[in-house]
Amino acid sequence: MADKGGKKEIACFLCQKTEHQGVLLPCRKGGEDLWVCTRCLPMLIHGG
Ligand SMILES: [Zn+2]
Repeated sequence: MADKGGKKEIACFLCQKTEHQGVLLPCRKGGEDLWVCTRCLPMLIHGG
């Protein structure tokens, strides 16, 4: 799992905001590791 070769930029899976543009939180969906920003998180919580 230690993939130091290619540094992958993480971004919100909904709005593509990067960690440099806001706070991203790790989440899981469909067996995938995803990131979600604090703006999109409420939408997820409320089932949007
Ligand atoms: Zn977002």
